[in-house]
Amino acid sequence: MKIQQLALPTIALGVAAILVFPKESVGFSTIGGSLNLSQRDVRVFNNFSDATANNNVTTDVNWPGQTGAPMSIWKACSEWASELHGGTGAGDPLQTVGSGGADFDITWQGIATGSGGTNDNIHSELQTGTNPSGVLAFTETPISTGWRIFYYDWWTWQDGPGNVTSGIDLQGVACHEYGHALGLGHSAVGGATMAASITGTGTGQRSLATDDMSGVQFVYGVKSAGKPHIASVDNQNPLTIMGSGFSATGNEVWFTNSTTSAPAGDPRIVVTGVASSGGGTSIVVNIPANAGLGDVLVKSSAGATGAFLSNAFPVDPTAAPLCAPPTVYCTAKVNSQLCVPVIGYVGNPTFTGSPFDVTGAEFLNKKFGLLFYGTQPFGAAFQGGHLCVKSPTKRTPPQSSGGSTTGDDCTGFYTVDFNALIQAGTNPNLISGAFVYCQWWSRDPLDFTGFGTSLSDALSFQICP
Ligand SMILES: [Zn+2]
Repeated sequence: MKIQQLALPTIALGVAAILVFPKESVGFSTIGGSLNLSQRDVRVFNNFSDATANNNVTTDVNWPGQTGAPMSIWKACSEWASELHGGTGAGDPLQTVGSGGADFDITWQGIATGSGGTNDNIHSELQTGTNPSGVLAFTETPISTGWRIFYYDWWTWQDGPGNVTSGIDLQGVACHEYGHALGLGHSAVGGATMAASITGTGTGQRSLATDDMSGVQFVYGVKSAGKPHIASVDNQNPLTIMGSGFSATGNEVWFTNSTTSAPAGDPRIVVTGVASSGGGTSIVVNIPANAGLGDVLVKSSAGATGAFLSNAFPVDPTAAPLCAPPTVYCTAKVNSQLCVPVIGYVGNPTFTGSPFDVTGAEFLNKKFGLLFYGTQPFGAAFQGGHLCVKSPTKRTPPQSSGGSTTGDDCTGFYTVDFNALIQAGTNPNLISGAFVYCQWWSRDPLDFTGFGTSLSDALSFQICP
């Protein structure tokens, strides 16, 4: 078995000299300092010269817009995050990504056009044709204002994504080097990501050991209970972000820069002054030009540390909607005022989402009505009109159509928030992915057919994840 040394942070910067073995733990060590909140951007200058560093061409919805070395490094740095990336940590065949459990989340900022200066927060290959003292890679200036990471071209870099059996695993080494950028030194625990040497190809370093998690939590604090949390995004523009802990006003939304950016400067695209609704659970924001394909984060207005920055959540505004829009079907029954009641909707039927109102218009004023729904469509004669939903059905509570207060006309209108019904969780049929069919049914005492009822056409939709 071959043992190769990972690099210490560069001696020229004095970091190795102050490497201290920890008082706080038997394993991890710190080099002093931490990254400022504004230094969490991560970019790659993709100059890796080995074909094997960029031969993973399989895209993954949890890492939108990248393949090859950039995807490998994005995953490596996200391993230190407060929670599993995208809620599942999916996209790495060997682990789930996002084990750190600290108030530390990166903002992926895509591709840079060069290696940049020592604090431009860029990963790239150092093309010297050497391997000084067996060094694989090194990190410069792990201090509050930024860092830079180089990988020696001497080695054969591999982007995975599965188990790497020859050459060196870029993701594993990137995970180690980024630990230095965060302010960690080497760990005395063998097999930890921050151990001073790797065995084999370094694939094992992709996944944080308990000691590494203790280290990042020591520097940045254990993930705080009130930290903003993104649970889902709808991938539309404007973008709806669902979660918790958002401030009522003054949130920042951080987007990935989707252009290939110049090395110098701050690549983040930040929208400021964003309000939330629903008690800090929902944000709707326009996606700026040159932004969006990557991750989104929300920083609340409650403070300026990582405790007030959310997890990073993948967003891909170019993706097709997860579910097709609702469709209207079947035929309404003409009412006693010669109006045709019509079903409609506002919003999207999502399992975790914001209001989805199913509406009924052109009904008689001042009459009770209800929405009935089931899981299969139907088409049969019913009360002088059509029954469009197959039994068994459920009914919403009767509600008044309102409208004009005198006389009879067609100003009656109904609405029900179907997502509230879904989220109430009281109906076992209303699960993610289920299809729903629904129709309005109302009183109409002067109905020509003698049944005393009025019926709309019908709406079908799928409950999206
Ligand atoms: Zn190291």
